[in-house]
Amino acid sequence: MNLEVGIRWMELFNEKVQNEKDYLTQLDTPIGDSDHGNNMSRGMAHVVEAIEEQKPENLNELLKLVTTNLLSKVGGASGPLYASAFMGMMKAEAAGEEWATILKAGLENIQMRGKAEKGDKTMVDLWTAVVEAVSKDELTHDLIDEAVEATKPLKAKKGRASYVGERSIGHIDPGAYSSGLLFHAMLEAEA
Ligand code: ADP
Ligand code: MG
Ligand code: MG
Repeated sequence: MNLEVGIRWMELFNEKVQNEKDYLTQLDTPIGDSDHGNNMSRGMAHVVEAIEEQKPENLNELLKLVTTNLLSKVGGASGPLYASAFMGMMKAEAAGEEWATILKAGLENIQMRGKAEKGDKTMVDLWTAVVEAVSKDELTHDLIDEAVEATKPLKAKKGRASYVGERSIGHIDPGAYSSGLLFHAMLEAEA
């Protein structure tokens, strides 16, 4: 990962979020409050705007910019959680860690903030699968799709979806899906 690839990553993630905004909202309807599409769309629009205006000069500045924009522009649970991810990544990057370790630091910060474990039907499930795959240099688009799909049979134990209890079973978790878009974009940016 470097600045140029990182910018491309955020641009591709933004494109995917804008293209799938309605689907993200649809996923957040049976088990949430129908705002995940709007939340992610607003946040990522601000991120790409800030990249153009502020012109980060290195990867750390980029990660910082993503963190602050997602934190200040996205309401709901997902804003602070995604911001935590990028904040963790920013710190690990500053410490000179390699990319797999940087992503792992992102996951750890999401868990520090949200207290979700793997299997709770949240974005943590997706990040856990991705971090494991990246550490073995085995991340593929199929693996991402499978990890997203794997949230479907789970009963939600954290976040709004946990309020509907058993009725969360049979639905893909919206935050896992949007995190899937993030990592599809990462693979495309790195290609
Ligand atoms: P809200 O639920 O506040 O409306 P969003 O709809 O934007 O926020 O985001 C919902 C997503 O946030 C969920 O699908 C889930 O992946 C994620 N999420 C919610 N709570 C947690 C948590 N405690 N830990 C990790 N992820 C969480
Ligand atoms: Mg919601
Ligand atoms: Mg909400």
